[in-house]
Amino acid sequence: MLAAVVHEFKAPLVIEDVPKPTPGPGEIIVKIEASGLCHTDIHAAHGDWPVKPTLPFIPGHEGVGIVESIGPGVAEVKEGDRVAVPWLGYACGACEYCASGWETLCLHQKNTGYSINGGYAEYVKAYAKYVGKVPTGVSPLDAAPLTCAGVTTYKALKVSGARPSDLVAIFGVGGLGHLALQYAKIAGASVVAVDITDEKLALAKELGADYTLNAQTQDPAEELKKLGGADAAIATAVSPKAFEQAFGSLRRGGTLVLVGLPAENYLRLPIFETVLNGITVVGSIVGTRVDLAETFELHAAGKTRVIYDTRKLSQVNDAFAEVLSASVPARLVFDLAGGF
Ligand code: NAD
Ligand code: ZN
Ligand code: ZN
Repeated sequence: MLAAVVHEFKAPLVIEDVPKPTPGPGEIIVKIEASGLCHTDIHAAHGDWPVKPTLPFIPGHEGVGIVESIGPGVAEVKEGDRVAVPWLGYACGACEYCASGWETLCLHQKNTGYSINGGYAEYVKAYAKYVGKVPTGVSPLDAAPLTCAGVTTYKALKVSGARPSDLVAIFGVGGLGHLALQYAKIAGASVVAVDITDEKLALAKELGADYTLNAQTQDPAEELKKLGGADAAIATAVSPKAFEQAFGSLRRGGTLVLVGLPAENYLRLPIFETVLNGITVVGSIVGTRVDLAETFELHAAGKTRVIYDTRKLSQVNDAFAEVLSASVPARLVFDLAGGF
């Protein structure tokens, strides 16, 4: 099968013919129709984070496709089902995190497109218990970004505790942020979208943001303070500076939700202001299978819009450059149903 493979950090991905996987017990093979490009895939291919993937590997954790074959003991899905293969590729199911609804914190987890091969390929092997079922009526091209960008920000919104009377600031209107702002609206909050390009801010307005701020020309913290300060700020931008501005935008008692994972790993957090203002700082990592099912359910009900452009997987290196230059409309999705 054809796949885009990372052989060396920061080097271009190589399109090559690799052996098609076969399913073991509890595993399935999915023929990929659509595969989203999450910024995490770029971090993975660059070796940006403290824990790095083992080379070589196939990235991609927004793969959606049809179950082509199943291994022994698979009862969760059958051949012909449309499924999504998310970042949380496997968890043990038995530890205290798994047992308490925090499978995303399982120490035995395997991550698709990072510690196990992902969806930048014609086929992917997945654990049947950890794939998401894509509801009828949700297209693979929409389902792909929901599989990470959607579920991650849906969960982040839950973690933020945002309520209908709240002001929620979304920093970064990329793949994650354009969905985050819609979940905040669905929760009934007023939304301020912050980005550094006018195109992203125009998109945010179109998707329902009440206010937009350009962090290149405005001081987002000052402007948000004029609006009374944010009850919750969700930082998805790939820049520690944006996280600091998000902190600075909060009102007393506010919550900063860290979601983006910039290569530069530290943010300057003032102790005095955090304590005196009673600020909560919380990290949020993807979402559970239940969160993913709810994310799909909202979309099937027509409550969210996924904004994307398609590319061929053979264009993967150009696509990475496009995302890094923030010139894409929210998400790029590799359309494998349309060829390689
Ligand atoms: P993206 O490139 O699509 O979006 C990032 C957006 O941030 C862009 O619109 C860009 O213009 C904007 N931006 C850049 N600098 C900014 C600044 N200073 N202020 C405001 N906006 C700024 O990326 P994405 O796919 O949405 O992913 C975002 C980050 O989230 C990545 O670091 C990714 O690894 C991480 N991520 C985390 C999780 C998680 O579970 N916590 C899940 C998925 C992705
Ligand atoms: Zn992702
Ligand atoms: Zn576990």
